[in-house]
Amino acid sequence: MAPSIHPFIDNGIARGDPNFAGGSLHCHCPSNQVVVALKSNVAHNHACGCSKCWKPSGALFSIVGVIPRENLSVQANESKLAIVDSSAVIQRYACRDCGVHLFGRIEKDHPFRGLDFVHAELSDQKGWQEPQFAGFVSSIIEQGFNPKGMDEVRAKFKSAGLESYDALSPPLMDLIATFTAQKAGVKFANL
Ligand SMILES: [Zn+2]
Ligand SMILES: [Zn+2]
Repeated sequence: MAPSIHPFIDNGIARGDPNFAGGSLHCHCPSNQVVVALKSNVAHNHACGCSKCWKPSGALFSIVGVIPRENLSVQANESKLAIVDSSAVIQRYACRDCGVHLFGRIEKDHPFRGLDFVHAELSDQKGWQEPQFAGFVSSIIEQGFNPKGMDEVRAKFKSAGLESYDALSPPLMDLIATFTAQKAGVKFANL
């Protein structure tokens, strides 16, 4: 049986709406749900194979995107949120009761500081940006996925129209390198 990448990819990718203006996310508790409002669409939405992102049960990958932190606000049951691992670069706020991650935030000096990480699948609304690529693909091996199955996983992404990377996409890796260079005072050569 083919491995489940994530329901949003296994079942064919639904295109987002470029004019979508955002919506709300909620955790999986049957009552007293944590609710987070997002005032814009997500960007750089992607499948992530790292061990830290929240994934729906049975899925090998999470789907995670970013949104400017000023566009995110907690609307209900904020007291149920707790940071999963305060030593991680991204502080992921999860519901204590159901374990779903509502958002991830970076407080330290980092190229992605100012962007919050969110899972649009926690929304009932349609129109969120569809996944753009797959990142940290090889990392699923570290979580017990058999390396012999990797060709099949990458082929599944390819057939869904997504490139697979073992870190992030080239534009995001370039952003990180630019930040690092600027911090070090590197002067870029003229093109
Ligand atoms: Zn919950
Ligand atoms: Zn991840």
